[in-house]
Amino acid sequence: MPLLRQLKFAFRSTDILSVGQPGVSPGEFVIQPAGKMPASPTAETAVLLRVARELLRANGAPRIAAELRVEWNSRLKTAAGRADYRQKLISLNPRLSEHPAEIDRTLRHELAHLLAQFRAGRRRILPHGEEWQEACRDLGIKGERRCHNLPFPVRRYVARFVYRCPNCREKFPRVRRVRRAVACLACCRAHNGGEFDARFRLRLVSSSGGL
Ligand SMILES: [Zn+2]
Ligand SMILES: [Zn+2]
Repeated sequence: MPLLRQLKFAFRSTDILSVGQPGVSPGEFVIQPAGKMPASPTAETAVLLRVARELLRANGAPRIAAELRVEWNSRLKTAAGRADYRQKLISLNPRLSEHPAEIDRTLRHELAHLLAQFRAGRRRILPHGEEWQEACRDLGIKGERRCHNLPFPVRRYVARFVYRCPNCREKFPRVRRVRRAVACLACCRAHNGGEFDARFRLRLVSSSGGL
């Protein structure tokens, strides 16, 4: 089965993901099927690893194929993937799961880094130089872009404004300045029958960045 179809299947049949479960180190990615017994946490990477190893073997690099590992790493922020030649490790951004077609392309992009360095031996090569471009062609992604960034925008929520209830001291981080009169709902419920009460109006306690 082509990789993309396998991945589509894998993502359709799963609910992503819990981080910080017992036995799961931070940054790891666990996939659990909805309403079923937990699948093997490595099921997804096993598919990727098998494909990647086949590609390396087919391109004359069985030695690194044997050592290769593939992981999902949520510490990658805007980068789609990363390749570490010394560790023979390919890291993929879990956000790629939103766009399964990009997983295969990113896997090959990163694999091309490993293949190019393998072929170059001890010689130093440019990250996206001729050797890498040739490896891309051999791995079926001729004309691959050099950019590692995710192929879609990453939404970032940065709370630049922090408000606080003068009564219960609860903090309310906000991305934008609050223009209307807003009060602490918990305090309005507790002390004013759920009606707006100016005594509990949120106050700006800190802001950063342009206003
Ligand atoms: Zn690259
Ligand atoms: Zn309050």
